[in-house]
Amino acid sequence: MKILFVGGGMGGTIVANNVARRLAREVREGKVQITMLSATDQHWYQPGLLYVAFGKMGMNDIVREQTSLLEPGIQFFVDPVEEFELAQNKVRTKGGVVHDYDMLVIATGCEAVYDEVPGLAETSETPYTREGAVRMFKRLRDFEGGKVAVVVGVPHKCPIAPIEITFMLHEFFEKRGIRDKVELKYTYPIARIHNIENIATWAVPEFERMEVDYETFFNMKEVDVENKIVHSEEGTEKEFDLLVTVPPHRGMKVIEENNLGEGGWIPTDRYSLQMEGHENVYVLGDTSNLPISKTGSTAHFQSEVIGENIASIFRTGSATREYDGKVYCFIEADQDRATNACFNYIDPPEIKAPTKSMHMLKMSYNQWYWSSARGLL
Ligand SMILES: Cc1cc2nc3c(=O)[nH]c(=O)nc-3n(C[C@H](O)[C@H](O)[C@H](O)COP(=O)(O)OP(=O)(O)OC[C@H]3O[C@@H](n4cnc5c(N)ncnc54)[C@H](O)[C@@H]3O)c2cc1C
Repeated sequence: MKILFVGGGMGGTIVANNVARRLAREVREGKVQITMLSATDQHWYQPGLLYVAFGKMGMNDIVREQTSLLEPGIQFFVDPVEEFELAQNKVRTKGGVVHDYDMLVIATGCEAVYDEVPGLAETSETPYTREGAVRMFKRLRDFEGGKVAVVVGVPHKCPIAPIEITFMLHEFFEKRGIRDKVELKYTYPIARIHNIENIATWAVPEFERMEVDYETFFNMKEVDVENKIVHSEEGTEKEFDLLVTVPPHRGMKVIEENNLGEGGWIPTDRYSLQMEGHENVYVLGDTSNLPISKTGSTAHFQSEVIGENIASIFRTGSATREYDGKVYCFIEADQDRATNACFNYIDPPEIKAPTKSMHMLKMSYNQWYWSSARGLL
């Protein structure tokens, strides 16, 4: 059996390692062949970008060679897929190589896009890209005070980030002794300050305590670059001296160009994680169209289900597990405290008061991630 993984980020790496370990004997005996195709030989721990943007981690802390994270049985090629021929069980790469498969797992992620909001790219800082995180740190370090606006595009990965970024801005300016010179304003596109109700309910008093001004129903329309004003679709506006954004995201172009899913989001069965209409194609992580948080933890929990099912299908002919929508997020609060949110398709999160120990756990996880990517946690 040939199992092909497309994408070597959080989801692709964890699931490929999971399958390689479960079917290690069959790989050794040549009965199973596992191949991974990715767009880069580097593996970036994207949650670390938030810490880079605030000067708490360096770029070297958040990158590893992809091959150092993979189980020995996985053949790895840096050669991105350009064509998916699902009817023929084949993909064609940029390098012109055709790979056929019996099982395909797609985990190509998603990316920030700026073309929907004129002026946003030129004016805003963001921790959502590698260049952006480094630039944001320099801007924050040199900022002397004024109006700081946080603006949020949808959809985006890591739904907790807008709130975390705001808490971290408060903390950063407080530590620099200039919090009283900063007017911190937060905006969010829907009727409350976070799309998960319990998180919004918990965060409102935190914002009020930190004197963060907030406005809901603020969907970015355009940025007046010259006058430093963000206009919303709703007709309101925010002036800024420093604009921080969580940009809108789309799935990768290759997904849309191959008609696998509008906007790059692949229609996925919420329980089996199979691509709709394709029994031998699994989808996980940010590229699925599931209406759940696009986070690394989502991809991790999905990996366990897909890994177990692929091994089980190989051995017994049928799948044994379903994904229940599980997501787990740490939420960095101010200073050295954090809390967490754990939820699934049915149960919403219950948010507890932030603690120092939860913050320590998150800081430790930032180091443990590399074991997690290898599927050891
Ligand atoms: C600032 C920030 C903070 C975050 N914080 C958190 C957090 O605290 N907790 C959390 O759980 N998540 C967090 N996330 C989100 C998390 O990083 C993503 O949800 C996660 O990486 C998704 O995994 P994925 O495998 O779907 O995509 P990715 O990890 O993005 O991997 C996609 C992979 O596909 C490859 N690829 C792309 N195109 C092709 C192609 N054509 N052919 C082959 N390969 C291709 C890419 O090279 C990449 O290796 C954060 C993200 C950011 C940016």
